[in-house]
Amino acid sequence: MATVQVKNLIKKFDQNIAINNTSLDIEDGMFMVFLGPSGCGKTTTLRCIAGLELPDSGQILIDGEDVTNLPPSARDIAMVFQQYAIYPHMTVGENLAFPLKAVRTPKEVIVQRVNEAAKKLHIEKLLGRKPGKLSGGEMQRVAIGRAIVRRPKVFLMDEPLSNLDAKLRTEMRAEIKRLQKDLNVTTIYVTHDQLEAMSMADRIAIMYGGSLQQNGTPSDVYDRPANLFVAGFIGSPAMNFIPCRISDDRTTLVFSESSRMTIQPAAKTRFANVPTGRDLILGVRPEDISLRKDHQAEYEESEVYVVEPLGAENIVDLRYVGSALKVRTLPTFSANIGEILYMRIDQSRSHLFDSESTLALTG
Ligand code: ATP
Repeated sequence: MATVQVKNLIKKFDQNIAINNTSLDIEDGMFMVFLGPSGCGKTTTLRCIAGLELPDSGQILIDGEDVTNLPPSARDIAMVFQQYAIYPHMTVGENLAFPLKAVRTPKEVIVQRVNEAAKKLHIEKLLGRKPGKLSGGEMQRVAIGRAIVRRPKVFLMDEPLSNLDAKLRTEMRAEIKRLQKDLNVTTIYVTHDQLEAMSMADRIAIMYGGSLQQNGTPSDVYDRPANLFVAGFIGSPAMNFIPCRISDDRTTLVFSESSRMTIQPAAKTRFANVPTGRDLILGVRPEDISLRKDHQAEYEESEVYVVEPLGAENIVDLRYVGSALKVRTLPTFSANIGEILYMRIDQSRSHLFDSESTLALTG
């Protein structure tokens, strides 16, 4: 078990900045996920922590010790990659034993640790089998098993589930989360899949263009996104965005000359520090809009573009003041293309972003 600290890390490849001054503190036993789109620098950050990449500047500390210039073998870490890197000529048992043999562990300890890992990963019956006869999910378990037998201070995992089909990914997601909690080993997990990050992480570090955008719990990044990038990246369907301004007398959200919405009493304090006369973006989650067929106070007219039935819920796609809005409804809610519906945005749960800086202005 260990803490991991990343301090002012910078890594360039020629003129391309892969990591732009990132600092992160990862607590002992924490499940930290690095999340972001392709090319945002998450793998490079992980590789610097592993010692596979040397940063241009900054420091990596494991348990308070500066390991920035130490080789991977001196860092007491274990990595699981997207490519399982399992030896095809060895049985599952031999694959699991390999990292322990490499450091001359006594035979009885090897047998005990291999059996323990196999039991935790439910692969006891596969110990005598060769990797060629394993399914993708079983191979992934073996790769994880090979990391856990060593009992390292830190696990580093780079997109370990991306070769699996959707159903197996969901299963393994839960298994890895449970395993991490049972073993209580500090873990850093890289993914571009926001659902994977939200469902597994204690904390998520969201990266974009080499820069850390926000570091918080899943509920922090979902309920209090720091900027427009985080707001749009987390959540499916994504947060709805509508350009607006706040009127000088602070009573209305102004979308255009002809379209405005009264600020609800419950949102007055939330919007109190947002400057008037600035270009803003109103951000609303699809579950924070309610729909009615008849008009009522605080409900605004909108037109149905299309309805997407998803079984457990429907997504109603609306057009309102020139913006497309997605609304999450019960599966029993039905509407037709072109129908006029009345919708109410729960402003007390909505966000306002500065359209120039992209930063959130509501807490
Ligand atoms: P992905 O999910 O596609 O792996 P990522 O977020 O992990 O993306 P990185 O692999 O860390 O991103 O890459 C960050 C940036 O650094 C990218 O622009 C990438 O092209 C560049 N990069 C990474 N490794 C190298 C390398 N060895 N040589 C040159 N450029 C590199």
